[in-house]
Amino acid sequence: MQTILVIEDEQSIADTVVHSIEREGHAAVWCGRGLDGLERVRAGDCALVVLDVGLPDISGFELCKAIRAFSQVPVIFLTARDDEIDKIVGLEIGADDYVTKPFSPRELAARIKTVLRRSASAAKEAPGKEALRKRLLIDPAKHQAALAGRKLELTRYEFKLLALLAAHPGRVYSREAIMDAVWGGDSPSLDRTVDAHVKSLRAKFREIDDSFDPILTHRGMGYALRDDL
Ligand code: CA
Repeated sequence: MQTILVIEDEQSIADTVVHSIEREGHAAVWCGRGLDGLERVRAGDCALVVLDVGLPDISGFELCKAIRAFSQVPVIFLTARDDEIDKIVGLEIGADDYVTKPFSPRELAARIKTVLRRSASAAKEAPGKEALRKRLLIDPAKHQAALAGRKLELTRYEFKLLALLAAHPGRVYSREAIMDAVWGGDSPSLDRTVDAHVKSLRAKFREIDDSFDPILTHRGMGYALRDDL
């Protein structure tokens, strides 16, 4: 059984989070104050931290940075505001994911599962090494994406293409399906339009991390986003 730390000052929200964690078969520990939570992380027995941005004693952002100074434990933010999402996506805070309030317990449970699975496979790939934070964060509402905490400067179509693939990681999209979904009526109807945009997206990922290529080419079929990110 893995222990998940919940740092959230609002009792009713903490109850919901704790309940959804326990229903998934994990143990939950709740701290209502940030600095108590930090001490708990230092104890080193937490598999993941669910962290509220707005805490009474320290901001969730500062707390996450303090955690990152000594630990790579996965962090999922709970956030209520758009401008907080900008910060999570745009800055090098070191978060793994975020969930916006109000959230459904099911949504949170799914995020926790994904992040835990990812951190387990990262640990397997790099035993003894710190898991590399390569997480791609995509915010469809803001048309923003970030890699490893750094904002990606994407054109409108690059973003739409990335968001499409990211909606269902592992699913293969044909060039025609991508043209329809991304370009719609403005479609220039050229296969190489899709290829050119995939190429420019890859180049932008490489600028941040030259070993990072999340887009899989399925010869004769199309493109997919890796489902193990
Ligand atoms: Ca709060």
